[in-house]
Amino acid sequence: SIWYPGHVQKAKRQLKENLKKVDIVVVVLDARAPVATTSFELKIFKDKKVIILLNKSDLANEELNKEWQKEISKYFPVILVNKNTDRRNIIRLIKSVPVKSPNPRIVVVGVPNVGKSTIINKIIGRHKAKTGAQPGVTRGVQWIMVDGFTVLDSPGILFSEVFSKDIAAKLLLIGSVPVENVTDEIYNRAFAIYAEVANVGEDMDIYLRNFGKQRGFLKKGGEVDIERAKNLFFKELSEGKFGRFTYDVDISKFEEVL
Ligand code: GDP
Repeated sequence: SIWYPGHVQKAKRQLKENLKKVDIVVVVLDARAPVATTSFELKIFKDKKVIILLNKSDLANEELNKEWQKEISKYFPVILVNKNTDRRNIIRLIKSVPVKSPNPRIVVVGVPNVGKSTIINKIIGRHKAKTGAQPGVTRGVQWIMVDGFTVLDSPGILFSEVFSKDIAAKLLLIGSVPVENVTDEIYNRAFAIYAEVANVGEDMDIYLRNFGKQRGFLKKGGEVDIERAKNLFFKELSEGKFGRFTYDVDISKFEEVL
């Protein structure tokens, strides 16, 4: 990947190893960007049963949530979920998948920050999985028995192979990429996508200047601290502070990333 090559290679190797032992892959996508978070990697699960959880649906546009669920259901079993979803809905979906093994093994995968650990904790029913990836820290993975299947306690991390500016911008909008590593071009692209979806003025500099002023982010001499405004704006936007937005709006694009 563009950001953490060593870490990414390691994550890919680990996932490949774990996949050998797995019957069902639970792919977590962000409901705000189902195409960008698919990361063009579903093909690596071709000999597995795949189910999709459209997570953070509480932060996405409600109408588009329904459209995305309908579209994805043409290819995979899928439900809309969020932090408050009853765990039984997820368990039921997993159990509805026909597999040969009497005790199927499952792994939860997805791009960074889509909510994989939150979902593993929900499935396990207690706070077990660690939140966030920790490069350099080796720790044994654990298989946890739950309700007639076995789940891996650590998530598989997916990284996009085809890395377009558009995908990078959408990952920034949903908080999946570290903000420090983003170029100005990606910020501008991200803001343009947001501006269109949210129907706000298109000029990022003007917008951030106002935002910074409102928050009192002033440098010596009274000038607005744009960098600080930009970082906070994108952080709060990704956490849903300014409303519910879906950035992948073209439903027909899903077919292209399978
Ligand atoms: P992971 O990196 O994929 O394992 O993601 P985490 O489970 O660590 O979640 C990343 C962040 O998103 C955390 O701050 C979670 O509290 C938050 N989060 C997870 N699921 C949801 C959700 O459905 N809705 C909202 N609003 N936030 C969520």
